[in-house]
Amino acid sequence: MGSLDDLPPLRAVIAAHGLAAKKSLGQNFLLDLNLTARIARVPGDLSGASVFEVGPGPGGLTRGLLAEGAGKVLAVEKDARCLPALAEVAAAAPGRLEVIGGDALEVDPRAHLDGPIHVVANLPYNVGTELLVRWLTPEVWPPYWASLTLMFQQEVAERIVAQPGGKAYGRLAVLAQWRAQARIALRLPPEAFTPAPKVHSAVVHLRPRPVPLWPADPEVLSRVVAMAFNQRRKMLRAALKGLGGDVEALLEQAGITPTERAERVTIEQFAALARAVAGRAGAPASRQGQGNQ
Ligand code: SAM
Repeated sequence: MGSLDDLPPLRAVIAAHGLAAKKSLGQNFLLDLNLTARIARVPGDLSGASVFEVGPGPGGLTRGLLAEGAGKVLAVEKDARCLPALAEVAAAAPGRLEVIGGDALEVDPRAHLDGPIHVVANLPYNVGTELLVRWLTPEVWPPYWASLTLMFQQEVAERIVAQPGGKAYGRLAVLAQWRAQARIALRLPPEAFTPAPKVHSAVVHLRPRPVPLWPADPEVLSRVVAMAFNQRRKMLRAALKGLGGDVEALLEQAGITPTERAERVTIEQFAALARAVAGRAGAPASRQGQGNQ
């Protein structure tokens, strides 16, 4: 049985297993093992850690995670053509890699991994945002994951870390930063991938805050923020009409000028608005323990 260092170069793996990239599965592979090693180091020390990898493809990033000392990697890959290649990686790291063939959206990693879980993925762009929103909006907080290290189109990455006042600031920034610390860890040009996509990419790293920065019911916050940014060029008193009742009074209660636009409202102010909405007479009871104030 060989070791990880004895595995063939990824180009040879792709040729041997006939892994011509499929656009429908968002396949843009990373073939440079120095680069996959750099991504695998973004979460910090992985010695003995549990890692959930979404979309391992031919296994470049998987090799990096195992080489960084991950105790167990659970890798979920939808493309059955990649499974024999991943079996070779598993054989080179006995007992440390479990591969599941299927849709990552349907797998709960907690059924396969112990302890805090680091999620690492060079995601297919079409599933990336859906998974991120799901990871950011679980029933209970803090979540099961200890960190998220995720590749996105650079434009999406900028939206996750955006600050108020710019075009990139929106629902994704509020959802991500309310409950997590988010930063761009790496930026990659199209040529880093095979085949090269049309756009630049970036790796975003998120760590959950023990409690959200400001208290709010997550469902109310999510609804208010979605409504506010849905008509982002309108003044909030108009964009939030769907809330019903005296919207201007709610905004003022939250310390927000009613003529303001969503992109200039801070996360603290959105949380205050969600509290004002949840506190209205007749509003359903809000979820408890959602903040540190
Ligand atoms: N991680 C590999 C790398 O860095 O070279 C592959 C990255 S490629 C951008 C995305 C991978 O996710 C592909 O292998 C694709 O088949 C897989 N994939 C697409 N949709 C998926 C899904 N819903 N669940 C699991 N894997 C998926």
